Amino acid sequence: MIKRCPQHGFFRGEHCECGLAGQLILDEAKTEQLGRLVAGGLRHFPHDLGLEMDSQGWVDLSKLEDVVQRRHRWASRDQVLALAQSDPKQRYEISNQRIRARYGHSIDIELDHPESHHSLLYYGASEEEADRILEIGLKSASQRYVHLSTTPGKAWEVAGYRTGNPRVIQVDADLARGEGVKMMTVNDDIVISEKVPAQFLCILSTKDIPRPVENRQD
Ligand SMILES: [Zn+2]
Repeated sequence: MIKRCPQHGFFRGEHCECGLAGQLILDEAKTEQLGRLVAGGLRHFPHDLGLEMDSQGWVDLSKLEDVVQRRHRWASRDQVLALAQSDPKQRYEISNQRIRARYGHSIDIELDHPESHHSLLYYGASEEEADRILEIGLKSASQRYVHLSTTPGKAWEVAGYRTGNPRVIQVDADLARGEGVKMMTVNDDIVISEKVPAQFLCILSTKDIPRPVENRQD
């Protein structure tokens, strides 16, 4: 659920960090509905919704609000802003009355986030996927960019949602960038990258992956 604190703006959950209960803006179900529509429009099918998108993925905020209101009569301007500004994964960026998804696009756009300066980056995969990736390189089948994690623990966690036995691939990001692979920082956890050739990849030994305590099985 999304609420608004009179002092700190939109937040997710029952209480703002300051302790205030705030005013309800979107309940759980509407957050989910609105979230799917906005993510779909900004990442996958802007044209189906009649949204004009520029080559960096931006659309007019007011146009998006029109689209949202046409689909959901209960939706307001404020709710679109609330959704975008409180997103826990920083999925969205708002600037000059325009909005875009920061990552996760399946459509062909050119993002212009700051260049990543991480020396090493990580990608979590199942055992089978990992074998294949080490042979042919790292590339997303469905998305414009491949999403890398900034720590081995994060990569392990991400892959853990899909497979019971995650493998973590280490990317020599310094070398790859030196060879012209474009990598951009999206937030503290995520770097997006063009295809990474196999020569910059290696598998990380399980014992080198610091896992979140609750997932530790040994
Ligand atoms: Zn507050």
